[in-house]
Amino acid sequence: MNLESLYQDLILDHYKNPLNKKLAENPGISVHHVNPSCGDEVTLHLTGDRSELKSVTWDGVGCSISQASTSVMSDLVQGKSPAQAESILNSFMEMMQSKGGSQGDLELLGDGVAFSGVSKFPARIKCALLGWMALKDAMVQLDLI
Ligand code: ZN
Repeated sequence: MNLESLYQDLILDHYKNPLNKKLAENPGISVHHVNPSCGDEVTLHLTGDRSELKSVTWDGVGCSISQASTSVMSDLVQGKSPAQAESILNSFMEMMQSKGGSQGDLELLGDGVAFSGVSKFPARIKCALLGWMALKDAMVQLDLI
């Protein structure tokens, strides 16, 4: 099995078995983001303070890339400090802006490197970034970054 099909399997697996896809009640903040070009939607609930993102849960509809990427994001940043979450976020964004040139930082991004190939397809980049933009918005609104 080559890397590309391995990554496709990883994305499909997160799409079929999403992590943290159950909105927690009474979150610190709730944000809703849409990607009109594809019809993807994500609602993100975040509870945290300056030392830790205590709860990152979400719900959404849309293409496999948007939903799987949000699943990976929620798993990666859960329990991290806002500063750590921001470096993971920046690393993912750099990879997505690389037009296929970056393999991604496996240590920081874990399963997130599976989306490195998506950066070759401009129309899908917004799908992959949707949940991450929601996270950034939520952290800014909670005054964490
Ligand atoms: Zn999409």
